[in-house]
Amino acid sequence: MKEQNIKNIVRGCIATLSPYSTARDEYKGSLGVFLDANESPYENGYNRYPDPHQKQLKQAISQVKGVAAENIFIGNGSDEAIDLLFRVFCEPRQDNVVAIAPSYGMYKVAAAINDVEMREVQLGTDFSLPVDELLQSADEHTKLIFLCSPNNPTGNSFLRADMLRVAEEFEGVVVVDEAYIDFADAESLTDAIAAYPNLVVLQTMSKAWGMAGLRVGLAIADDYIIGLMSQVKYPYNINLATMHLVEELLREPVLEHVAEIKIQREALSAALTSMSFVEHVYPSDANFLLVKVADADALYDHLIADGIIVRNRNRIKGCEGCLRITVGMSHENEKLIKSLKKYEESLVY
Ligand SMILES: *Cc1c(COP(=O)(O)O)cnc(C)c1O
Repeated sequence: MKEQNIKNIVRGCIATLSPYSTARDEYKGSLGVFLDANESPYENGYNRYPDPHQKQLKQAISQVKGVAAENIFIGNGSDEAIDLLFRVFCEPRQDNVVAIAPSYGMYKVAAAINDVEMREVQLGTDFSLPVDELLQSADEHTKLIFLCSPNNPTGNSFLRADMLRVAEEFEGVVVVDEAYIDFADAESLTDAIAAYPNLVVLQTMSKAWGMAGLRVGLAIADDYIIGLMSQVKYPYNINLATMHLVEELLREPVLEHVAEIKIQREALSAALTSMSFVEHVYPSDANFLLVKVADADALYDHLIADGIIVRNRNRIKGCEGCLRITVGMSHENEKLIKSLKKYEESLVY
């Protein structure tokens, strides 16, 4: 799909928007006398409005991700990017979106809030990507297709060629949520954005990067879509304290943490597989395991009583009987295994 075609699917009110601008967009220096924004002149480190374009942080992220700054949108969590994609492309009560299921719950919530119909397409056996069904579910009012790879809560990645075929054949925007890509062996799709101007890759600082509390999510795409999202966002959506902290925390040894979590993931998977009440541990490219057990609700309650909180996915279509367990520190995983053994022993009687 060409950039020109994307212009044709943007909501009319967004295409004609004159975005909020600040006087500082006109003055590029940093040593002026700033009497334009009614700020307090008493310096305390935070008395000035932050850079609405987040230039410095985008440079830092650009270095880490190997993606040009003009292809990066920074949001208040991935949630902001998801919501903005609805607001840019989807006319309420007229357009629709397609998403895989089971997947991340936020796509459906954002669709509902924006009064946009959501069409869910169940994954195939072994949670494979149903490319033809996804494409067939789309009609002339379908603006977005949501994929998530590695997928939450199933943990698997989809084939790159399959995801790119969706981008190739769909006449709207394909969103690939890569929240867990750092834990996967598969390559990110960010290197495909130049060839696919309708591809939006979502990443987040909340998982491998250890900054869930700071609320920073990324959208990586052709600069035309990034420009649209930037026009619609709140001007100062990322605050100065967050920008400084992210720059600092980008220097943490995250690769080492990821390597350790992957080792822990395999150890936990092996321990779970050996337990009598565990029916299946799904392979995972993420920092969690989806585990099918004999009685998910009973096990969930047992763990809660032991002070161990996991995610019960028993009532999610396609995940019946499953719990989703985040991989923690080795002492945390050991505590979990100990509690699971206690549960296993209790079943004998
Ligand atoms: C955790 C998660 C996110 C992260 O959301 P943030 O708002 O950036 O914290 C995004 N997508 C998926 C699929 C997730 O599981």
